Amino acid sequence: MSVIGIDLGNESCYVAVAKAGGIETIANDYSLRATPLCVAFSGKNRILGVAAKNQQVTNLKNTVYGLKRLLGRKYRDPHVQRELQMLPFNVIEVANGNIGIKVHYLNEEHIFSPEQCLAMLLTKLKDISTAALQTPINDCVISVPSYFTNNERKALLDAASIAGLNVLRLFNETTATALSYGIYKQDLPVPEEKPRNVVFVDCGHSSLQVSACAFHKGKLRMIATAADPNLGGRDIDYVLAEHFCKEFQTKYKIDARSNPRAFLRLLAEVEKLKKQMSANSTSLPLNIECFMNDKDVRGDIKRADMETMCAPLFQRVEQTLKNCLEQSELALEDIYAVEVVGGSTRIPAIKQLIEKVFKKIPSTTLNQDESVSRGCALQCAMLSPAVRVREFSVTDVQSFPISVYWEASAEGDASGNVEIFPVKQAVPFSKLLTFYRHEPFAVKACYSSNNIPYPDNHIGTWIIKDVRPNAEGKAQKVKVKVRLNLHGIMSISSASLYEAKVSAEPETPEEQQQQAQNEATEQQKNGPSGETSEADASMEGANGAAPPEVGSGTSWTKKISGWFGGDGDKDKKKKNLLKTVELPIESLTYGFSQVELNQYTEQECKMIAADKQEKERADARNALEEYVYELRGKLSSDGELCEFVAENDRVGLVQQLDNMENWLYEEGEECNRQVYFNKLQELKAKGEPIQNRRIEAELRPLVFEDFGKSL
Ligand code: ATP
Ligand code: MG
Repeated sequence: MSVIGIDLGNESCYVAVAKAGGIETIANDYSLRATPLCVAFSGKNRILGVAAKNQQVTNLKNTVYGLKRLLGRKYRDPHVQRELQMLPFNVIEVANGNIGIKVHYLNEEHIFSPEQCLAMLLTKLKDISTAALQTPINDCVISVPSYFTNNERKALLDAASIAGLNVLRLFNETTATALSYGIYKQDLPVPEEKPRNVVFVDCGHSSLQVSACAFHKGKLRMIATAADPNLGGRDIDYVLAEHFCKEFQTKYKIDARSNPRAFLRLLAEVEKLKKQMSANSTSLPLNIECFMNDKDVRGDIKRADMETMCAPLFQRVEQTLKNCLEQSELALEDIYAVEVVGGSTRIPAIKQLIEKVFKKIPSTTLNQDESVSRGCALQCAMLSPAVRVREFSVTDVQSFPISVYWEASAEGDASGNVEIFPVKQAVPFSKLLTFYRHEPFAVKACYSSNNIPYPDNHIGTWIIKDVRPNAEGKAQKVKVKVRLNLHGIMSISSASLYEAKVSAEPETPEEQQQQAQNEATEQQKNGPSGETSEADASMEGANGAAPPEVGSGTSWTKKISGWFGGDGDKDKKKKNLLKTVELPIESLTYGFSQVELNQYTEQECKMIAADKQEKERADARNALEEYVYELRGKLSSDGELCEFVAENDRVGLVQQLDNMENWLYEEGEECNRQVYFNKLQELKAKGEPIQNRRIEAELRPLVFEDFGKSL
């Protein structure tokens, strides 16, 4: 059983595997290390990865990409609407405002969700890995941008589940890079020393992420992350493409914008130019033959022109770098290095901005394209019992603060809210909230920041059911566990009712009054009581992540234990009289239900089987076609088999091969595998005896020679 790490880039995906000897990148079926995040559909099959990208221009409407940016979002999300302007395939609004991708597949119209399409790509990556490693793949770690919100993370997990992958962790891209930096460093400071602080800048296809990380021997702790989710290499490509569009409009009177195919070609060409510009500051030519209306177009551009045109983009790069620096609260002299990864950090202007902000020449000690996948593979190996790797503790942080809200009840239970996970909360982490309630109630969670890259702050609502008053009609204690799991996904993971088992010793009236008072003041301030719990965190800590820092949590615990009015003894006395009942929770959150997931998984399996069948069919047809050509060539009047067959038979067989060729291109185009196989056997029954006669003839003189020698 192998464990793999997947860097799911918006443009390119990489898969790495952790082996005893180290981390290796897995090459795909085209012997390439990068697999485009691209899936396509045809009348016969699905086309995935490199092959999908290769046929894009001729199958524009049925070639789907850019999925990372559609995940976990609704059709009307302004972010989605902006993406759609760049995507040439058909996207519609389906039930519940969700996104549907409409394609022509198997000669019918099909509508798939972004999760399903992404699952197809993941299926391909799984397939590539299985083929390369010759072992089944199940466990994996997949990268996500650090700014991904709950819904986006859940959608990615759903996609992985449809593809039959077990995700041990969704790993922030920045943290994956940091891990691949730290793991092999032998000279990191010991715990008593000041940490080595390193900044990582990842500018990829469509987003920019900057993080600051503190390293000690054997461990890393994320200090801060900043991102611009809408700033990457493709934005530069668009600026350049728009520039040439305008130029062609005046020069050639053509509007490339009106022709999606032409515009896509232009984008591909300016991307090439952009890459050349990273190494070359002189003027570079752009030539596209037969661009539109049979016109050839040409233009040229210098790096300096590009920099002027993209100045607003570069300003945003600078801003994001500064944000990270500010949030990290590090002084420039406390930063050991700035490491760059991601394709777009190759752009000189971006390197210069890094130098400007951090006063350091960016280092490129990491593999710029593969650091994320390598970090994911390492993390996967650490979390999986299947492979042993060096221990390295990883403490990641949550990018956005999360608050929970609860409603008042008719019985007089107060409403309230609390910021349960502040920004930079260590992940994973759990906290307990204590309520006193008469009846079922709802807890809602939201991001408590206006700065999230998502149109809606709402994360989910959880209804805590079966809450009932005690025998005396009073509110009962309910503890609710709020969890931020290893994937960075927040949920209410459990709730329990603390019910008096037998009629409890009556508390003294003073105690009762004190408790009521405390409750009132706390609820005004914070809502119900909260307790931090490290139970979960330390459980997950055993899986490779460091135990979270308690920080503000500690004081909370203190505050709350005061509220329970308990010196330890009294608490114990009460606990003995309580029985805890697990309460059912209904969660109203984003994502597919188990039933839907099962249905999509089944559908994916069917499509995999259909693709496999189609591939076997195509292979059988190709084998027959190849044999026809090969045998006919050898049977031609100057062919190598010509003299080993009677002329009549030769002419007859060639005729039969010609007929077979015609059949292959006409009614034999779409037969099933067995038909081709049988026809191949039929031909071989005729061809092979001739071939054998030739082999015998070739061997014969040798036999005589040997015979002669032995005499
Ligand atoms: P993301 O991280 O945004 O999800 P990704 O991981 O697929 O996407 P990368 O592979 O890191 O993205 O980077 C791809 C981008 O880098 C493309 O826009 C590409 O044009 C750009 N790029 C690659 N090489 C160069 C270069 N030499 N100069 C300029 N840009 C480059
Ligand atoms: Mg990337």
